[in-house]
Amino acid sequence: LVAAMEEVEETYIMVKPDGVQRGLVGEIISRFEKKGFLLKGLKLFQCPKELAEEHYKDLKDKPFFPKLIDYITSGPVVCMAWEGVGVVASARKLIGATNPFQAEPGTIRGDLAVQTGRNVVHGSDSPENGKREIALWFKEGELCSWVPVQAPWLR
Ligand code: ADP
Ligand code: MG
Repeated sequence: LVAAMEEVEETYIMVKPDGVQRGLVGEIISRFEKKGFLLKGLKLFQCPKELAEEHYKDLKDKPFFPKLIDYITSGPVVCMAWEGVGVVASARKLIGATNPFQAEPGTIRGDLAVQTGRNVVHGSDSPENGKREIALWFKEGELCSWVPVQAPWLR
């Protein structure tokens, strides 16, 4: 965790179809924006089945896998790439536990979701998966490297 706090990382965050359907896109983006992370990529996207299966390939032997793929491909998702110091673990904290019943109030799932199978948001679980997932969901030209300016309208 100490190492994570010092490293600039990238993470893949996704508003799942229930979050889009329920009008929670702005609210969820705001949590990461207000925390102070840097947005590098953002798009609304209808996920094909093959991509959902590749994204969740580590879970392919779980009994809920077919339902998970149906869920993720059931409507558009909002794909995001965020950068920051320790952003991978920090975003997981902001998101809360997988089961929204166990997610603390104040977290996205704790505040906005009820069921594990409809938990409104995804966040990468390691810096390696952050890189892997951003490469999976975004094409090169869809990402921006940029540095925020320091309030130039005040000078
Ligand atoms: P997380 O999204 O918190 O990293 P996992 O990687 O374990 O959680 O699982 C990926 C997603 O699969 C979860 O966010 C949830 O949408 C779904 N999922 C996990 N466990 C279950 C379950 N027992 N029943 C239904 N869906 C599940
Ligand atoms: Mg996971």
